[in-house]
Amino acid sequence: MSEDCIFCQIVAGDIPSRSVYEDDDAFAFLDANPMAPGHTLVVPKEHHETLADLPEDAGAAVFAALHRLTPVVEDAVDADASTVAFNNGEAAGQEVGHVHGHIIPRFDGDGGGPVHAVAGARPDLDDDELDAIADRIANAAD
Ligand code: AMP
Ligand code: ZN
Repeated sequence: MSEDCIFCQIVAGDIPSRSVYEDDDAFAFLDANPMAPGHTLVVPKEHHETLADLPEDAGAAVFAALHRLTPVVEDAVDADASTVAFNNGEAAGQEVGHVHGHIIPRFDGDGGGPVHAVAGARPDLDDDELDAIADRIANAAD
């Protein structure tokens, strides 16, 4: 546990939350400032700041909880769909430095956008640049 982390304190029960799910490794609760009714956060119980810091088993537990909860959350608020996403790192808008996946229920005509809208202008990349990027990723992921 990281003493000054608000989500660690929520997992420990030291700060109240509207918890909706808990297992050995993951915890979920309603976002205190929801983007939509039912906006839920899923966190690993252990403190890890970003996805890169998260051990594989903790990542698997978080994804299992997201997978389990997403349809349940949608049903609870009669949503048409949901956006499931991580702000992964400060430059991407992460404000709380404890990995958390957002489940944001979506409704036909809600005026929101797709995740394509979160990055800046689209880069202009030629085939060689795309090949080089794909190679770098593929080699590092091996
Ligand atoms: P992010 O920008 O991805 O780091 O999102 C942090 C989220 O945590 C925001 O949507 C906040 O509304 C939410 N949040 C911050 N403090 C609390 C809290 N005490 N209980 C529930 N949600 C919180
Ligand atoms: Zn934490």
